[in-house]
Amino acid sequence: MAKNILYKLEVRASRRANTCKRNSNHKIPKGDLWLIVTPPGPAARDYGYCVDCGTTMLEDAQATLEAQLAALRSQNAT
Ligand SMILES: [Zn+2]
Repeated sequence: MAKNILYKLEVRASRRANTCKRNSNHKIPKGDLWLIVTPPGPAARDYGYCVDCGTTMLEDAQATLEAQLAALRSQNAT
């Protein structure tokens, strides 16, 4: 199995009221979904993002992945 290069990502319901890591004005009420991001490394800790920020971040990541994937695949496209 190839090395996993992505941060650990998980969408789940918030067990208590939280605030978004990207903007502390974004409240995440208990029971609402939020995106948990866990960077790799020994000092691993979680970062939580609200639905709006989480959606934007995943869409940006997806666009980056698609662009790089397309670049790699262009090697064999000709
Ligand atoms: Zn947010």
